[in-house]
Amino acid sequence: SSSVETLEFQAETRQLLRLVIHSIYSNKDIFLRELISNASDALDKLRLESLTDSSLADDGTTDLHISLEVDKDARTLTVRDNGIGMTRDDLVELIGTIAKSGTAGLLEKIKESKDAATAESLIGQFGVGFYSAFMVADKVTVRTRRAGTDSGTQWESDGEATYDLQDVDGLPVGTSVTLHLKPADSEDGLADYLSESKIRQIVKQYSDFIRWPIRMATERTDTEGGITRDIDTLNSMKALWARPRSEVTEEEYNEFYQQIGHDWLPPAETIHMRAEGTFEYEALLFIPSQAPFDLFSRETRSGVQLYVKRVFIMDDCEALMPNYLRFVKGVVDAHDLSLNVSRELLQHDRQIHGVRRRLVKKVLGALKDMQSKDAERYTKVWEQFGRALKEGLVEDTANTEALLELVSAASTHDPEKTTTLREYVERMKDGQDSIYYLTGESRAMVENSPHMEAFTAKGYEVLILTDPIDEVWVDQVPAFDGHPLQSIAKGQVDLDASADGQKETEAEKAQREQHFAALLPWLTTTLSEQVKQVRLSSRLTTSAACIVGDAHDLTPTLEKMYRAMGR
Ligand code: ADP
Ligand code: MG
Repeated sequence: SSSVETLEFQAETRQLLRLVIHSIYSNKDIFLRELISNASDALDKLRLESLTDSSLADDGTTDLHISLEVDKDARTLTVRDNGIGMTRDDLVELIGTIAKSGTAGLLEKIKESKDAATAESLIGQFGVGFYSAFMVADKVTVRTRRAGTDSGTQWESDGEATYDLQDVDGLPVGTSVTLHLKPADSEDGLADYLSESKIRQIVKQYSDFIRWPIRMATERTDTEGGITRDIDTLNSMKALWARPRSEVTEEEYNEFYQQIGHDWLPPAETIHMRAEGTFEYEALLFIPSQAPFDLFSRETRSGVQLYVKRVFIMDDCEALMPNYLRFVKGVVDAHDLSLNVSRELLQHDRQIHGVRRRLVKKVLGALKDMQSKDAERYTKVWEQFGRALKEGLVEDTANTEALLELVSAASTHDPEKTTTLREYVERMKDGQDSIYYLTGESRAMVENSPHMEAFTAKGYEVLILTDPIDEVWVDQVPAFDGHPLQSIAKGQVDLDASADGQKETEAEKAQREQHFAALLPWLTTTLSEQVKQVRLSSRLTTSAACIVGDAHDLTPTLEKMYRAMGR
């Protein structure tokens, strides 16, 4: 072997490692789930690449599997795969740095968090992946050879500041990750990870559905004292989605979700369906109970995996779920697609479009059901994913009606509770046609706006919209249930037309206009730099004047938002 090169971890990686090692996670067992999941990904990648590059098959792609090896004397646990492997550059890039956007902000939040539970929940949203190995090991050794290359590399680190790299000859294709285990310490949540039964239990719990065999050498002593050595497959590899709903327990659904979603909370909703006919498929989808920290970062991708007849094809299948439903996780197994199908092809496939339409309807339908049957749970889900769903009102005009039904908004009706548009319409005054809203940066700002005066005085309910995205969708959506959405800060809102009994007569109106006939042109000229026009209004009760936008103007918040985005 050649000389050793010592490299430094990127600053963010070092911070994350420190947080992981100093035990933010109370559940240390998940390190094995993470390493097995990486091994499984590596096997998928090799199988996929070998479909197009037959030379890779020479290295052996017939018995793809994961093996777990225990060395009690050396106190090591090794997770080995004969998958795609990594080059030296891969190791530096993939293991030495964190490419995820938003990492710095997340680390800041974790450091500021007041208690361990908050910190754990934040880091859980991030997903520590490979680094979770350092929760249970004080040294980690990775040996790996990329399929199609001749030389292997060893990576080794104690998870502090640096890692060592060195070339190694004679490695098989694939990767082995060897953990030099810390001593078991129940107070610290560290189990005995050399124990066969503990390993079995963790694999069963977190990795049972992994689609490659996870093998382990076992020893059994029989009654006569003879020792039988065996290679056991620890996981059942059963495709949960292919089983009838009645035969799957809630616990099994939850564990499957936690495994594919890298979540430690159960999902808020499970959707399991089967479509028969010309294009057959099964889908098992989940709505998480908590949003990931990077739900609104640019790179966040869809959470739906595509399988073809039980064979894994790809993660993040954006063709199956629109962007605004990127928080939905799960699996779609299509029976009539080629194993070689590409992302490109999927984007243009008519049948895939059909599947996607159906899945969107299912998800929106499940949310609607939850809203009517379990309002409390729905409120939590809306808090987590409402902002993403509102993007749907801008992107997905085919489902405007269904999405509008889901909207929850603050309102002047009840400061303690949000309202749906349906509930708003049911409370509308006689003769009221529009749904009134006002957008702004905060609830307090909206409530104290002079625009609010006449509406409050005359008892009209106004929706209080404070999300930046609210500005966008309210403009795009023509009406809900036949009632137009009307900003009380824009254009002419003629309250008198609908106010009961207080309508001023034509004569009174003429008199009022005459009274101010000289003032208005003077104000318009004097303020010509600042405003387009000064006119009389019936919308104020106590304030003398207020500024309103044209019906088609950008609102101040939206202007600010566009400016911040550099448009
Ligand atoms: P993630 O799996 O979410 O990408 P990880 O921290 O678990 O994050 O892994 C980082 C990257 O390191 C992986 O994306 C993969 O490219 C690489 N990697 C980790 N383990 C293996 C492995 N056993 N074989 C090949 N590549 C691996
Ligand atoms: Mg991973």
